[in-house]
Amino acid sequence: MTPADLIRDDIRALRAYHVPDSAGLIKLDAMENPYPWPEALREDWLATLRHADLNRYPDPRGRDLQAALREAMGLPADMALLLGNGSDELIQMLAMAVAQPGRKVLSLDPGFVMYRMIALFAGLDYVGVPLRSEDFGLALEATLTAIAREEPALTYIAYPNNPTGNLFDAAAIERIIQASPGLVIVDEAYAPFTDQSFIPRLGEWPNLLVMRTVSKMGLAGLRLGYLAGPPEWLAEIDKVRLPYNVNTLTQASAAFALRHHAAWDAQTATIRAERATLFDALAAIDGITPYPSDANFILARTEPGRAGAVFQGLLDRGVLVKKLDGAHPLLADCLRITVGTPQENAALLNALEAALSID
Ligand SMILES: *Cc1c(COP(=O)(O)O)cnc(C)c1O
Repeated sequence: MTPADLIRDDIRALRAYHVPDSAGLIKLDAMENPYPWPEALREDWLATLRHADLNRYPDPRGRDLQAALREAMGLPADMALLLGNGSDELIQMLAMAVAQPGRKVLSLDPGFVMYRMIALFAGLDYVGVPLRSEDFGLALEATLTAIAREEPALTYIAYPNNPTGNLFDAAAIERIIQASPGLVIVDEAYAPFTDQSFIPRLGEWPNLLVMRTVSKMGLAGLRLGYLAGPPEWLAEIDKVRLPYNVNTLTQASAAFALRHHAAWDAQTATIRAERATLFDALAAIDGITPYPSDANFILARTEPGRAGAVFQGLLDRGVLVKKLDGAHPLLADCLRITVGTPQENAALLNALEAALSID
């Protein structure tokens, strides 16, 4: 027997998710916070880990961490929380809980690739509604038409969107929630970089859930995502969760960080200020068009046909960004640049000027 005899055709047709080797490079490809764990908190944090009972299984629901999360994000008291090993795992749990032949997942394209990948893994059909080509805005009429036609079990809206960085019109999202026969998950992975949120709106519609993660605020290595919404929904989705999905060290570290969130708020405020500086600098470069962003990255378009050469030119100068050209027709000639430290952003801009001047 060979893999071809056993492994599903749609799985064999995939290429494994490729994470490029970034050793020695300035890493501006993955929306990470460039700043390490705040020095002043290091000893206190390590002291809490010293008491962690690693011989025991973790608290199955992470109750202490849930309390810290509720407090930090101001969750309405009547809303429940579900924790995941990254928000990727929550997307997987949602898919497993609804998967049935013919069921659909809908999102807006270009968008976060895991919505489509996990739908495929779970045997759900994925429907991608194109964004407006001129500004990556939400095409409301086309989206409402697709929802009426496809009746998706799950609709994902990233707010702000990845990889485009923009916030969709909140009134358009409300229309989508109202019109949806299934759940609508507003994915606020980039919440630390915007003032807009649907958390205060939870409960206004019975089918709205909000998903967040600690990854982009600066704790990507912990792998912790959370889903907030009406308890009757989360109690059902909780049934497909693996018993100890969030480990003891993650629970303790994340709860500690959330109780000292001012230190991370200072980091994300710096990144927001740097985003504005970087945007202006990119806009001033001939041959580069940056798009406005409410996230910790900027989507930028090169001259037609130049994205591959510019990407490689940056790599040759030690800077890794994400090449999106080829990923979706609307992303032709596009690169995605994570906002780094002031030094990293300066190095990126220098490398970009150098890469563009060689033709
Ligand atoms: C990065 C990202 C996530 C993934 O978050 P993890 O918690 O690290 O799994 C989810 N949604 C969007 C839109 C993202 O960009």
